[in-house]
Amino acid sequence: MDHVVVVGAGLAGVRSIEALRAGGFTGRITLIGEEHHRPYDRPPLSKAVLLGETDSTVVDSDLDALDVRLCLGTAAKGLRDGVLETTEGELEYDGLVIATGATPIRLRGEGRQHVLRTIEDALALRERLVPGARVAVVGAGWIGAEVATAAAKAGCAVTVVEAGESPLAVALGPAVGSHTTDWYARAGVELRLGAMVGTVDPDGLTLMSGARVPADVVVTGVGVRPAVDWLKGSAVRLDDGVVVDEHLRTSLPNVVAVGDCANWWSRRFRTRLRVEHWDTALQAPDTAAATLLGEEAVYDPVPYFWSEQFGHMVQFAGHREAGDRMVLRGDPRRDAKWSVCWLTADDRLAAVLTVDRPRDVVQGRKIIESGRRLDPLRVADAAVALRDC
Ligand code: FAD
Repeated sequence: MDHVVVVGAGLAGVRSIEALRAGGFTGRITLIGEEHHRPYDRPPLSKAVLLGETDSTVVDSDLDALDVRLCLGTAAKGLRDGVLETTEGELEYDGLVIATGATPIRLRGEGRQHVLRTIEDALALRERLVPGARVAVVGAGWIGAEVATAAAKAGCAVTVVEAGESPLAVALGPAVGSHTTDWYARAGVELRLGAMVGTVDPDGLTLMSGARVPADVVVTGVGVRPAVDWLKGSAVRLDDGVVVDEHLRTSLPNVVAVGDCANWWSRRFRTRLRVEHWDTALQAPDTAAATLLGEEAVYDPVPYFWSEQFGHMVQFAGHREAGDRMVLRGDPRRDAKWSVCWLTADDRLAAVLTVDRPRDVVQGRKIIESGRRLDPLRVADAAVALRDC
């Protein structure tokens, strides 16, 4: 293999290049990125950048030392066997990494709506988070909660409009999500649950019910879609992202996919997973690069992510299914720190969520990896370390 092209200059893209070089690849590497920036980290955009603590989150990677040809401001448009079509012309490849991430979903309406995906998005929003500004955030998911945290800290009058019956209902289920409802009130944020947005208007939101939410600033945080439209019509199979096997191989030879856009087969959980979190973009490229270099590598992680909201560190590891049994560690109504474990029918740990209890997530992740059984009664006792359950 002489020439590898990496499409998407985000974390997964740059990590793929590092992994290829670490794996001994000495051929040419070209990095194609639609944005005009060198690869940067996105998690700080809704935290340190919005809070005004930093303006730059560039990934600490020496692309010059990695001997990469950088093509920024260039978008991939299509793919044939061995040829990538871009806005700047065609490019032949021997190996290809698809790492084009995801794009935010927008709502209907004529009004201006901010989304939060790029550094430009974050800087533009930060400028408008001034004391007294009326900010309507649509969606009480991970991004919505972090934006509401920053906006409230900036002295804005914040309303969060959420279609579900609790915050984080989609990610964690309403029973767990409802334990975060108080966080909004304590931060002075108004939370409207069960409210569907109809349109974004120049002066706020109109709900499906006809009610209005007046606002100077509207932020939409209702999820993302994998950025794979450019692959439509190619031989790469798409289904909620790029479909890859456990080696991160796509349906086209010598083409792999990683990060937010990749929908991989998980041996461990016996299902397909597409995980839109930082740790996946960081780790999966090791497997993708090894696969391209002809090694037998399998990607089979216990997914992990974190969120910082309303002064709490929220962490999650694993993968939960609808039938898993929830066991609380601590009482969220009384205790500042608590966790939730999801156990399978045969008492194995499927997933763990922790609120300011980092030890539980570290130990829980190892237990999920081991696949061993737990004693549910001990799990329910927050005084017993999870590793001793
Ligand atoms: P991306 O970072 O999206 O990079 C993909 C790149 O490909 C982009 O630069 C894009 O412009 C480019 N691209 C797209 N299409 C094309 C094309 N056709 N041609 C060329 N280039 C293209 N995760 C956590 O675990 N914890 C957090 O607290 C957390 N906070 C987050 C906060 C924010 C505001 C956001 C947006 C994400 C957050 N995440 C968090 C998620 C995490 O940042 C992502 O999972 C990670 O960035 C995914 O990396 P990626 O390289 O797959 O995709």
